[in-house]
Amino acid sequence: MNTICSDCSAPVAATATACACGGVAAFEDASPRISPSGFKRALRDRRASNELRFRSGVWRLAEVLPPLPHDAIVTLFEGNMPVYESERGASFAGVGRLGYLHLGMNPTGSFKDLGMTVAVSAAKAAGATGVVCASTGNTAASMAAYAARAGMESYALVPSGKISGAKLAQMRDYGVNVVPVEGSFDDAFNKLSSVGDGKLAVVNSTNPYRVEGQKCAVYMLLDQRDWNVPDWLVLPGGNLGNVSAFGKGFREAFALGLIDRLPRIAVVQAAGAAPFVRVFELGGDLVPVVPHTAASAIAIGNPKSWRKALRVVRESNGAVLAVDDEAILDAKARIGAEGIGCEPASAASLAGLRVLRASGVVAPDADVVAVLTGHTLKDTDAIVAYHERLEANGAKRAAAV
Ligand SMILES: *Cc1c(COP(=O)(O)O)cnc(C)c1O
Ligand SMILES: [Zn+2]
Repeated sequence: MNTICSDCSAPVAATATACACGGVAAFEDASPRISPSGFKRALRDRRASNELRFRSGVWRLAEVLPPLPHDAIVTLFEGNMPVYESERGASFAGVGRLGYLHLGMNPTGSFKDLGMTVAVSAAKAAGATGVVCASTGNTAASMAAYAARAGMESYALVPSGKISGAKLAQMRDYGVNVVPVEGSFDDAFNKLSSVGDGKLAVVNSTNPYRVEGQKCAVYMLLDQRDWNVPDWLVLPGGNLGNVSAFGKGFREAFALGLIDRLPRIAVVQAAGAAPFVRVFELGGDLVPVVPHTAASAIAIGNPKSWRKALRVVRESNGAVLAVDDEAILDAKARIGAEGIGCEPASAASLAGLRVLRASGVVAPDADVVAVLTGHTLKDTDAIVAYHERLEANGAKRAAAV
């Protein structure tokens, strides 16, 4: 399978971080010759199999992935994520049905594992000795784990002082080389080529293998819902690779005859890092911003996959909106109070859904899936600070009475 620019369709190497036009490399949509019922059956059979690669929810989907030699596959058995029905979440948001697709229930605690297993396997197959990424934390933690499994070196450029201690600890545990960068994620991304000898494989979501792995979340979701498509899929947006991946997954599943309609897709950004909201509303080119938000995983001011993501949202008749940090943290506490939990960025999906319902974009009887992108232990400082603040305010209120 060849890769082309997702904007101008020129051939672009899978290893390039951008096309000359600014677009990113992408694999064409998969179109395997397999009947929908045969494909669905194969997925169920493989889910019950103990064959190593089939214990991964990603590699179970071999027919829709770029072909790689089996002995290059680096897996931690990612891709076996739950969908939790949430009655309390549905009533908080005001919708008929709400399910949480919890991508934080992956080996390193975020959806990055779905893409990383494919990107690191491809790097191994290509003979790379090491991998590198810019990261707000989760990409680097995932990269470090898969690189360690593969016996490769890994390098993470991280915005100095702006990532959670838990994520930093995690990537160090897996043996990453941390390269602190002054500024934001966007500054770290611009320094990617300054690390290594030019032989390191870049595993940011500009790497098209990442998107191939991440699109698998769609198939896993649909399989668990017996191929019933929700009315809406809501997810947080940072660099916008995951939105692009979900769009691709649904597009392919539809073309393969696995589903008979497509969901509307809503992307939620943090108010302090919302360049995609602006370009969705005003058109033209994306105007980068300097990101400020407590939801560090989506603190990105110059998202690389915005054109792809914009097409996905527009084609789905979807929505893009921003919510402030307070709404994100309140929604996060509600998800936690249900025994589910997630990291701050993930809760933007619930906070955003509530706004979409209140403004009438989402109907009251809507069947919605909200994507929880990261695990609750990813940012314990944010949790402690939130509850201490609540307690302090409660104490103040009590004193005033
Ligand atoms: C990476 C990440 C995001 C943002 O995903 P993009 O593909 O960059 O839009 C959101 N939430 C969490 C927890 C993440 O790790
Ligand atoms: Zn191009």
